[in-house]
Amino acid sequence: VLEGPTILYPFVFYALVACVAAAEMVVPARRATVPIDRRWITNIGLFLIGLATNRLLAAVSAVAFADMVTRAGLGLLPLLDISAWPAVILGVLVLDLWKYVEHRVMHAVPILWRLHLLHHADVDIDFTSTERHHPFETMFGLATTWAAIALLGLPPLAVLLFLFFAMVTTLFGHANLRLPRRLDRWLQWVVITPAYHTVHHGTPRAETDSNFANILTLWDRLFASYRASTPERDAERILGLAYFRDPRSARLDRALCLPFLAIPDERPPVAANADRVSLAP
Ligand SMILES: [Zn+2]
Repeated sequence: VLEGPTILYPFVFYALVACVAAAEMVVPARRATVPIDRRWITNIGLFLIGLATNRLLAAVSAVAFADMVTRAGLGLLPLLDISAWPAVILGVLVLDLWKYVEHRVMHAVPILWRLHLLHHADVDIDFTSTERHHPFETMFGLATTWAAIALLGLPPLAVLLFLFFAMVTTLFGHANLRLPRRLDRWLQWVVITPAYHTVHHGTPRAETDSNFANILTLWDRLFASYRASTPERDAERILGLAYFRDPRSARLDRALCLPFLAIPDERPPVAANADRVSLAP
């Protein structure tokens, strides 16, 4: 099933990574605040661990799994009896919404936030941040993707297209790239952009808890988690978390331990956020 595109997928991924890395050198949006090599060793290390985790846990690809599910006639979507292409489009949309909800849940549920915070602990953001995830978060993401496929009976092509679009937009979204402001604003009506997703990596909780979208920005607008930025705010934004900023926690071995460490400065309540006006005396 869809063997050609599945074989091509990694080649497209690495080609895109090379393009984005080159573009970052030409038009960077921000100057690095810490040496790049230290972050890259950790981020690329986590990428390789994530790759191994995927290999070990998933005997077949998500696309092949979707094929098995739909052949067996399982899941909700086949019950709707819609024709092939609308089902593919619906499948991509539903999977994107599913991942949006998952991302919000990861921010809201403390134990899941512990799995996800390693991704947010990066004090600079570039294309290597895209694959900076704790292996436990990778496992959780894999489980929810497979659950969605089994429950919804998504067409294999929908799964492949979702994975492809999400790969492009998340790579693009994390890139340290300065796009012309107008182009960025236009693109944001449909998909996530570097400026859009950088807000999500801002230190204030109000920023971290906004702009959750993977592909389509529609979900953030629909569910009131969209936060617009300004050039002024972009210029002064500090990335990462208020805690885990010391160079030691940037090391790969330490990064893997982050979910189990005491959070030194527990996430501040929303009212204490600098972005909100406090009425307390
Ligand atoms: Zn997040």
